[in-house]
Amino acid sequence: MTFRATILTLYPEMFPGPLGTSLAGRALEDDVWTLEARNIRDHAVGKHRTVDDTPAGGGAGMVLRADVLAAALDAVADGRPMLAMTPRGAPLTQARVRDLAAGEGATILCGRFEGFDERIFEGRAIEPVSVGDYVLSGGELGAMVLLDACIRLLPGVMGAASSGEEESFDEGLLEYPHYTRPVEWEGRTIPEVLRSGDHAKIAAWRKQRAIDDTRLRRPDLIERHGGAREAPPSGAQRDT
Ligand code: SAH
Repeated sequence: MTFRATILTLYPEMFPGPLGTSLAGRALEDDVWTLEARNIRDHAVGKHRTVDDTPAGGGAGMVLRADVLAAALDAVADGRPMLAMTPRGAPLTQARVRDLAAGEGATILCGRFEGFDERIFEGRAIEPVSVGDYVLSGGELGAMVLLDACIRLLPGVMGAASSGEEESFDEGLLEYPHYTRPVEWEGRTIPEVLRSGDHAKIAAWRKQRAIDDTRLRRPDLIERHGGAREAPPSGAQRDT
C-alpha cells in the first residue's frame, strides 16, 4: 500500500523540499509514498481571488477563510485523515505518527498569517496537530516534520528493518545513548559494558540509561506514561 500525502498550502513550491533528499527522497522515487502539493489559492473567491480576510473582532494579521479552506479540502477528500497544522493542536507524538504511517496517508492543511477561521474545525473532520510549543510562520515545515516522521517508518524505507522498532518515545522513554569508534576520544572512553560482549548486561545498562535520562531530561514523559515505575533510578554507575 502506498502512503499518499496531499498538502494544501499557499506555497506548494516548498515541496518536496527536504523530503526529496536522503531516505524520504529515495522512497518518493521508489513510489513508497506519493506527494501532491496543491495550492489553496486555486480555491480563492471573488474577482480578487481572495483566500484570507481581517480577523473578526480586530487585531493584527489575516485569517484564512473557512469557505476557501473547505473548497480546498473537499476537492481532495477521500477518506484519508485530514490534519491541520496549528500551534493550537495536540502535540504530535510518535504513537500518532505510527498510526498515521500504518494508514493510507493524510491530507495536511498548512496555515499562514494568523491561521484558520475556527469554523473549519466545526464544519469538517479535521485533526489539529502541533509540532511543538513555539510558533512557526507557516504550517509547511510542520507538515514536513510530520511526513518525515511517518515516511521513515514505511516498510522498506529504513535500511535495517529493526532500527525503527526500539526508539525514543516507544515505551514512553527516551532512547539510551549511542557510542561508536574510536574507543577513546579526547580522553573519554566508551562505557566498558558496551564493549563487554555480554548482551544481557548491555540490555540492562541500556534500559537503565533510558530510564535515568528520561527522568532527568523529560520528567513529563515519565508522568504521562507512568513508565519505568518498576525500576528505580540507578544514580551512579554511569561509566561502568
Ligand atoms: N496566530 C497563531 C499562529 C499562526 S502561525 C497562533 O498564535 O496560534 C501561522 C501558521 O503556522 C499556522 O496557521 C500553522 O499552520 C503554522 N504553525 C505555526 N506554529 C505551529 C506549530 N507549533 N505547529 C504546527 N503548525 C504551526
